[in-house]
Amino acid sequence: MSAPTVSAPETAATPEAAGPDVIREGAFGNARALVCRECGSEVALGPQYACMECFGPLEVAYDFPTDLTREQIESGPANIWRYKALLPVPTDIETSPNTEPGFTRLLKADNLAAELGLSNLWVKDDSTNPTNSFKDRVVACALSAAREFHSKVFACPSTGNLANAVAAAGARAGMKTVVFIPSNLEHPKQVNSAVYTESLVAVDGNYDDVNRLASEIAGEEDGWAFVNVNVRPFYAEGSKTLGYEIAEQLGWRLPDQVVIPVASGSQLTKVDKAFQELIALGLVEDKPYKVFGAQATGCSPVSVAYKSGTDVVRPVKPDTIAKSLAIGNPADAPYVLDVCRRTGGAVEDVTDDEIRAGILLLARNEGIFTETAGGTTTAVLKKLVETGQLDTSLDTVIINTGMGLKTLDAISGQVGPAATIDPSYAAFAATGIA
Ligand SMILES: *Cc1c(COP(=O)(O)O)cnc(C)c1O
Ligand SMILES: [Zn+2]
Repeated sequence: MSAPTVSAPETAATPEAAGPDVIREGAFGNARALVCRECGSEVALGPQYACMECFGPLEVAYDFPTDLTREQIESGPANIWRYKALLPVPTDIETSPNTEPGFTRLLKADNLAAELGLSNLWVKDDSTNPTNSFKDRVVACALSAAREFHSKVFACPSTGNLANAVAAAGARAGMKTVVFIPSNLEHPKQVNSAVYTESLVAVDGNYDDVNRLASEIAGEEDGWAFVNVNVRPFYAEGSKTLGYEIAEQLGWRLPDQVVIPVASGSQLTKVDKAFQELIALGLVEDKPYKVFGAQATGCSPVSVAYKSGTDVVRPVKPDTIAKSLAIGNPADAPYVLDVCRRTGGAVEDVTDDEIRAGILLLARNEGIFTETAGGTTTAVLKKLVETGQLDTSLDTVIINTGMGLKTLDAISGQVGPAATIDPSYAAFAATGIA
């Protein structure tokens, strides 16, 4: 593929952040090095995210044990640490206080399947994680890295859910925690960070402004672990656990099709990485699968690039109710395009009205209350079916990444009491509900 157009943060401070003094033996399990996604050059495991040679993004590379079995994994704890052999974490990771995310429900969604005309559909429901989004997974891995790097401050720029997860994990770890958010963020997401930390910083700007500020602070201050900036390679690996869990919960097999929301694009690329690793390790049978990306039309740089058949991703100014997906300049966009094109999937986008309808579609068919990101994913599923991009006869999984109570305003105008009545049978009978 061609060089990434957006992956290197524009105002990257030095790619090499404040160095760790000593990294203890086995601190990163089976991880071997950080390798550049563009030029392949390797550097030692450390708090770095950009290649010194070409500024490409760094990714964790491993020497996996070839004798890892399904039984060994199944005998592990009911959280992401059952896959610790496949993550950049120490073998004793369970002994350090963390939020123990993961191993969330994979629900067979027969009502929604029937509604949309699909044979087999599952919802991977990450709304039940400790702070009610998939971000607890990535933050748990970033926290482990921050500990090993002796970081003094645990921090992030966030579209909301990440701040919730960082603030909670930092509290449990007893670390100083500072989280940065756009000041126009949904009120419940602000509160859900502020309960855990005194240092919630609201920035007048959009996420891309907040992200730039974080890069600047990471360059100025020593010992800050910004989970999605200077420890991003470790953070990103946490999303692989979604892929591992989906395969394990389907009975150690891969789905045929999976629909995943795209903000920075990290999660989507890591679910694909997880599937590839499971195949390489012989833990699942090798078979084709298609990966689909979901965006909101009001922030759809990856979907626009996909549809125009180009690798060039043009940054946008987000304008959508799906604030958790509102990244106008997604770091992993080129790799999302690669994965979706290579697997025969697609990237699609839906309007805010479709997102609201998607929230209700999932709630009323499956009893799952998702936030705007999940409304986006559900609405994109529907659109992919209606446009014939998704094969309705194949086994399909959608990922619900967040929780509806955090974005009540998105639909509170559309749902509410069907009637307000006196406490009498006559009044009830008059409503016609019975
Ligand atoms: C952050 C987030 C995403 C997207 O994650 P990326 O890895 O940045 O693409 C999806 N859904 C929710 C609810 C999120 O908070
Ligand atoms: Zn490089």
